[in-house]
Amino acid sequence: MAIIELDKETVDKIAAGEVIESPISIIKELVENSVDAGSKNITVEINNGGKTYIRVTDDGCGISRDEIGLAFKKHATSKISNFDDLYVIDSLGFRGEALPSISSVSKVTAISKTEEDEIGSKIEFENNKSKITSIATNRGTSIIVEDLFYNIPARRKFLKSDIAEANKISRLMYAFAIGYKNISFKYIKDNNVQFQSKANYDLKYRVSDLLDSLLEENLLSVEAKNKSYDITGAISQANYYRGNRSMQYIFVNNRLIESDEITRVIESQYQSLIPDARFPAFFIFIFTNPKNIDVNIHPNKKIIKFSYEEELLDLINNSIRNLLGKNKEIKSLHLNETKSEELLDFTDYKAILDKYSPTNMVVRDKDTQYVTSKDDEFFDTNKKLEFDNFIEEELLEETSFVEDINIPTYKTSIFKRYSVFEDKDKLYILDHRKAEEKIQMTKFIKDFNNKNINRQQLLNPIKISLNNLDIEKFESKKEIFERLGFDAELISNTTLVIRELPLIFEIPQNDAFFYEILDIDFDNNDEVIYTDLRKIVKSLSFRKGHSINKYEAEELYKSLMKEEDPYKNYDGKPTIVSIEEKELERYFER
Ligand code: ADP
Ligand code: MG
Repeated sequence: MAIIELDKETVDKIAAGEVIESPISIIKELVENSVDAGSKNITVEINNGGKTYIRVTDDGCGISRDEIGLAFKKHATSKISNFDDLYVIDSLGFRGEALPSISSVSKVTAISKTEEDEIGSKIEFENNKSKITSIATNRGTSIIVEDLFYNIPARRKFLKSDIAEANKISRLMYAFAIGYKNISFKYIKDNNVQFQSKANYDLKYRVSDLLDSLLEENLLSVEAKNKSYDITGAISQANYYRGNRSMQYIFVNNRLIESDEITRVIESQYQSLIPDARFPAFFIFIFTNPKNIDVNIHPNKKIIKFSYEEELLDLINNSIRNLLGKNKEIKSLHLNETKSEELLDFTDYKAILDKYSPTNMVVRDKDTQYVTSKDDEFFDTNKKLEFDNFIEEELLEETSFVEDINIPTYKTSIFKRYSVFEDKDKLYILDHRKAEEKIQMTKFIKDFNNKNINRQQLLNPIKISLNNLDIEKFESKKEIFERLGFDAELISNTTLVIRELPLIFEIPQNDAFFYEILDIDFDNNDEVIYTDLRKIVKSLSFRKGHSINKYEAEELYKSLMKEEDPYKNYDGKPTIVSIEEKELERYFER
């Protein structure tokens, strides 16, 4: 066999095929170019997992008419190739090669306009030929990549399914939106907008907006530093966890990485706090001199090596241990001007009251007797409502045998919402509603596990109209609705009727809760689905309590102390706060 020299085209194709393994590599390169161009808005569109169509559009500086052809030439770059810059993590051997590599394995069209250009330019590549034309467009760049590996069928075969490729891309897109806080990202998959992130949002808001609204109240901020590494970010509190690792993101110098070591170190701190096979959420940003990292681009896997790895892992481990540990204590109030106002201002409470507008209801108690009650006597302690008694009896039943809990001395009840206790040099303020919610949540989970949820029958059944898709979803979740304590039944092709609800919830004012529950992907696992149940609790509201007396306050305190992690509600907010006498002295400038 004669040895032949491969032509340049073939060499380029082979080289590009090695760098561009799948659609995700293209998206990564294009988005990073857009970031480098100073864009404020970046839109990424994919079809069929990016195999047939990718478009990345930005409002960055653009490429001028004279340079657009050059941008697609090998080793052409407007960026200084300096291994010290932050991009070193992704750019080893990849400087000025992205665009030419992409255009040698797919059909590329680029449209771009700079501020100075009168009119935009359009360049099209196919089969190694290009042509440039003029086109009216806004400032910025749009790059369309079609039919990946159309000219290398052998490589096309190695692409994963559309869904698998799209999933990888989605995670990357979330990582971009989380990592680049000054840029708004829009992500469109098969013509459906998946998300549009808001720029200039704090990390907590960004991730709760993008991933799960429950995160906002369940994240603790991470900040740690040693000689070589600077770490920021957020981790979930122990009462928030997921069925998989999809909410774990680690960035090094703003680039998403995967690290088994770091993941293991973080998860180990949650071990005794969350159930087995459940995973915390975390968003960790590591910043370091690029000299401390070594990125080894293996054909299939990116391995990153840290210098001073032990120190880095220690730093992460200790800061997370401290954060989680601290949160197992009573939150102490530090009085200052604003805090004291907050404490005395009950407008907040009024808002809550408004939320619980009067409704008629029929309550089914244990012996299936029916009692009617009206809700607007909420504040009248003398006229205690039947259902309040009912809830309380249950509560007392369970707690009356616990005598070994040390109760601080009950002082008074204020604003019909808080009980004040005193103990040596500390004042405790217990929030009745929060404490009751916490206890009810635990009970809800327990009853759910025992398939024994108390129900309330609705005087006016709730009618909900559903489309085909909703009905499909409902059919697949019928059992779980039943187990949750809902009596929901389809009475026609488009109408569903809810006749019973779990007793611990208020009667909902609209049907939003139903759609929310419909959209929860319940774990089929039979163990408690804490996160899912909390979503339900979030879309419905717990029954409110009432002003309580000394005896009830003490019982409530005791029941609360029996709870795991008693000082925090299921939503991470405190149930009880303390004020030290010293703090008060400081406040009065004594
Ligand atoms: P590199 O990013 O390493 O410089 P690329 O091949 O990715 O190499 O891009 C080549 C050049 O094309 C860049 O240096 C930049 O000048 C220009 N370019 C690419 N994408 C964009 C974009 N979205 N906006 C403005 N300029 C771009
Ligand atoms: Mg680039």
